[in-house]
Amino acid sequence: MSEHVKCLIIGSGPSGYTAAIYAARADMKPVIYQGLQPGGQLTITTEVDNYPGYPKGTHGVAMMDDFKAQAERFGTDIRWGLITSVDFTGPVHKVIVDEKTTITADSIIVATGASAKWIGLESEQRLNGFGVSACAVCDGFFYKGQDVAIVGAGDTAAEEATYLAKLCTKVYMIVRRGEMRASKAMQHRVLNTPNIEVIYNTETKEILGEKGVDGALLVNDKGEERTLKITGFFVAIGHTPNTGVFKGWLDMDETGYIKTIPGTSKTNIPGVFATGDAQDKVYRQAVTSAGSGCMGALDAERYLADKGIH
Ligand code: NDP
Repeated sequence: MSEHVKCLIIGSGPSGYTAAIYAARADMKPVIYQGLQPGGQLTITTEVDNYPGYPKGTHGVAMMDDFKAQAERFGTDIRWGLITSVDFTGPVHKVIVDEKTTITADSIIVATGASAKWIGLESEQRLNGFGVSACAVCDGFFYKGQDVAIVGAGDTAAEEATYLAKLCTKVYMIVRRGEMRASKAMQHRVLNTPNIEVIYNTETKEILGEKGVDGALLVNDKGEERTLKITGFFVAIGHTPNTGVFKGWLDMDETGYIKTIPGTSKTNIPGVFATGDAQDKVYRQAVTSAGSGCMGALDAERYLADKGIH
């Protein structure tokens, strides 16, 4: 026999925990499955200085512990486990946890987030959080007045390069082809920012440094090497939404972001709501994700009330 819950939340980043806080306080008795990376992407960053309410800043892991504790305080049932398949055929939604446990739910909030893509260098992993970052808006401030590099050539990289250029003395933008993928307008902004140097046809061979970043070894398409002296290395080569398990059930765009009805968290399946980075490829901030989690819980609460489920 399977367990039945009123509100199932999948994912434990800012969005999942905020949904849990609201759902628990509304007596929806939420059950949350934490997924592969409990606490989400913030647990792989260091300081967080831009989340309102922490005037002295905080640490990503500590902040997510606070989110979790607040969700627990109102009785959220927080569990280890990964949703490995779903069946949204009927009015009651079915999910399988860790390929063995079946749970049915009246409402589901999908808050599975996204994962940054990485270049794949050993040095990139080793220095992650110690000079290597996948979020310029989160971490750029720590490199004020310093020289940094950013890899990528899409809209995110272009936007983040111009953001960094306001803080940093010099920004090297490393582009693997002879042109950028970013929109013409964004390219124009990059090329008209005097302290951004775009380095085309070039890839990163190694990020240099022991306990922190002190350089990057680049190689161009002619095999010529060049070393940059930098203290921060930003990767902006795209994100992958963690939505694979919902393919075929929830409407998504071509890159796997879940489509929601604008201004709501509603998906194409009644009773299934999507929040946070799993449905947002533009803002991707902890605070926007948390706000979206709140929307998910309120939408789910109204859905349950309309169905007369108490
Ligand atoms: P994109 O997939 O658009 O771009 C990724 C970039 O990273 C590409 O230029 C790609 O190079 C490069 N890249 C990929 N892998 C590597 C690698 N291993 N080494 C070096 N470079 C690599 O991702 P974005 O995050 O930029 O954008 C995602 C979506 O969000 C897009 O649709 C974008 O338009 C949208 N967006 C919109 C914004 C806005 O409207 N304000 C802001 C930010 C994003 P290559 O070109 O050679 O493939």
